[in-house]
Amino acid sequence: VKTIGVLTSGGDAPGMNATVRSVVRTGLHMGMRVLGIRHGYNGLISGDMVEMNLRSVSDIIHRGGTILYTARCPEFREQAGLEKAKKTCQAAGLDGIVVIGGDGSFRGARDLSLLGIPCVGLPGTIDNDIASSDYTIGFDTAMNTAMQMVDRLRDTTQSHDRCSVVEVMGRHAGYIALNTGIACGATSILVPEVPFDFKRDIYDRMMNTRKTGKQHFIIVVAEGVVAENNPSIDELAKRIQTETGIETRATVLGHVQRGGSPTVEDRVNASLMGNYAVELLNRGIGNRVVVMRDNKIVDIDIYEALQMKKTIDMHTYEVAHQISI
Ligand code: ADP
Repeated sequence: VKTIGVLTSGGDAPGMNATVRSVVRTGLHMGMRVLGIRHGYNGLISGDMVEMNLRSVSDIIHRGGTILYTARCPEFREQAGLEKAKKTCQAAGLDGIVVIGGDGSFRGARDLSLLGIPCVGLPGTIDNDIASSDYTIGFDTAMNTAMQMVDRLRDTTQSHDRCSVVEVMGRHAGYIALNTGIACGATSILVPEVPFDFKRDIYDRMMNTRKTGKQHFIIVVAEGVVAENNPSIDELAKRIQTETGIETRATVLGHVQRGGSPTVEDRVNASLMGNYAVELLNRGIGNRVVVMRDNKIVDIDIYEALQMKKTIDMHTYEVAHQISI
């Protein structure tokens, strides 16, 4: 009987539970033993594992977070930590591991695969910042949460003829900002991928829009832009208010975007990707990541996946600004 493990690592994302559920149920369906490894790679080093059965993953498909807990594990980046993890895997009789996380977690999965423990990575992060995959588990839910929050802000912004500057998640990637901005009709969308100019991208856009009779404004800003160009979102809001004379408030959505019940898209993809990963391990195939490319679930080499780069679609970015006036 094959034994596989499953762990969640790095930042949590809605849909991780649906993924764990699929991995566990697929493994059991194939006659495997499945161990839930807790707190990311920490559990792999310390041996914090629990045997999963069909009912261990009941009642979680609709829940955010991860029942396996997640963590960052600096020790796992060191050779000594890796060796410890390998020993734990051997002691537990693990024939393979499904790792749900981002690029950092994939690097760990690659290192462990090279030590002889086949690992398969699944893209789980709200930011959609995994180059090898068009889509990541949790992204759709996070965008929908951000959209709902900005819709609420819009009500109050509109009633008071104000400007709202909203910071959404995305330290290096503007996918949440771009899509939320389009969905909410933001006057301006600032993403880390495109350098911004205060006059051109904020001041002029607001002034031109105001000439057409609009009195309220939403500016969506990705976290990464604030980190790079401004000490804080509050200062950006102050600058807008000072230069435009329009009352401006700043809102940081923060970790609300990481939680909540996953959307249909995230639950379905999580379920299919989890199943795919176990199929690979069942065939003894490791050192792969399961990704979405052109709406198909496929697998690629982890090393290759980590070399890839992706950026936001500039056409989408242009359209967003063209029609939000
Ligand atoms: P994410 O998986 O969301 O990108 P991190 O970058 O924090 O999140 O990575 C999660 C964990 O993966 C780290 O805490 C560490 O244990 C492991 N990891 C990250 N980078 C490496 C690396 N270069 N080599 C081995 N393990 C790594």
